[in-house]
Amino acid sequence: MASYFGSIVQHSLDALLEDESFLPDLKEQDREQAFTSLTAILSTPNHIHKSFLRIALENGKVVRIPAFRVQHNNTLGPYKGGIRFHESVNEEEVMNLASLMTLKNALHEVPFGGGKGGVVLNPRDYEVKELHQICKKYVHYFSDILGPDKDIPAPDMGTGDREMDWMMAEYKSIRPGTTYRGSFTGKSIINGGSLGRREATGKGVYFTYRYMMHDFMNENREWLDAQENPFARTALNHDRKDLKMAIQGFGNVGSVAALEAYRCSHLNNKIVAVSDRNVTIYNEEGLDIPALVDYTANNEGDLPTTEKELAGLEMKAEILDREKVLYMDVDVLVLAALEGQIHKDNVDQIKAKIIVEGANAPVTGDADKYLADNGVIIVPDILANAGGVIVSYFEWVQGRETQFYSEEQIFEKLVEKMEETMVTILPQFFGDPFPLRQNCYIHAVMKLSTVLYRQGKLY
Ligand code: NAD
Repeated sequence: MASYFGSIVQHSLDALLEDESFLPDLKEQDREQAFTSLTAILSTPNHIHKSFLRIALENGKVVRIPAFRVQHNNTLGPYKGGIRFHESVNEEEVMNLASLMTLKNALHEVPFGGGKGGVVLNPRDYEVKELHQICKKYVHYFSDILGPDKDIPAPDMGTGDREMDWMMAEYKSIRPGTTYRGSFTGKSIINGGSLGRREATGKGVYFTYRYMMHDFMNENREWLDAQENPFARTALNHDRKDLKMAIQGFGNVGSVAALEAYRCSHLNNKIVAVSDRNVTIYNEEGLDIPALVDYTANNEGDLPTTEKELAGLEMKAEILDREKVLYMDVDVLVLAALEGQIHKDNVDQIKAKIIVEGANAPVTGDADKYLADNGVIIVPDILANAGGVIVSYFEWVQGRETQFYSEEQIFEKLVEKMEETMVTILPQFFGDPFPLRQNCYIHAVMKLSTVLYRQGKLY
């Protein structure tokens, strides 16, 4: 397994192979063979679908845009994963993200497998009518492999409820008479979407951090104090009231996580920096997050970039380069923008002792190891950003039942599900020397391996 993702899966399998209490019926040669099968199954996707979408642009030209759908594994249920519109989309990235979805769903006991889609384009370069064509063509080209019981896409970077509404409508016209509402999640509310889906990932990101570093800490302080594990020290040192936080990315995930932190009534979080594709906004005394959320809602998602714009908000803050957010002297850094933001060339400048991954894979393998060796707790993507897929699952269920839950019910169910995962993972993590990411992977791989074994798929 070449990728960083692959190497963590392999470490998880190696650890489980040694642990004789795991699948105890498998002995000696049978055990070796079963684990060789598991490596083969988990390291390769079931299917890679690629196409070139033929689009007639408004200016009369015809272009062909590369598009992917990767179906990694459906042992636990239909494939599930977002469709990303971004110019850097490529087959390997889509494959890695699809594999991550398989394990994320396994970790949180969501009855879906893992998939991912991508189209190589910058949506800002296209007219609305062209984007509509692209969405329709995507569904048209992949209609045989998509569907509510086969593969259920959702939004990702560059796509949102508008695109999911268009795609579901196209699916419905290609496959009339099916339970089409369950074919896409992340739709608008009026079109069968779930209340709370837009906020789900950001809320889940903040909840994961809060539960781990405060609720769990408060209940287990004495036990944590007795642990040798260096991460337990980091957690105990973090247990203060005046915590400073910086957030990279102020889109769907980052802005909601920022609002949750800002409004968290029983903790005194101070969000001193937020950033986006253009700038970092910084104020030592803390930023007015609701004002910035309002501003971005009226400015195509972008934060203020000039003193004049800040003055218009009556806000005192400094405007810095967009990378500066990463190097702030803060307690918590939330990464909610892109992959690979902390890497071997900048990791030694990171000061935060807690990093929360709202984005997928924002820390590279080299940087991950360096930070773990220095006692930094990374709350990994697989644990922290699952809120979106969990509420997508609720949307899929509601679509099938044609009965809808209130926003309050959705958030209650979301928090309950994420808490269930953490109750299993956290004692394991603070009780042994593996980083949290490795612990989560071991748990997810255990679940998948057990199901594969019981289904007779390992020999
Ligand atoms: P978004 O498009 O709404 O927001 C992205 C934010 O990142 C914007 O503020 C943008 O300006 C900023 N950004 C872009 N390039 C940047 C750069 N080079 N440096 C700093 N900031 C930059 O996307 P989102 O839905 O908030 O998703 C953010 C990340 O979270 C993505 O990696 C996505 O895959 C991941 N994620 C999203 C969800 C979800 O439900 N939306 C679920 C799981 C994971």
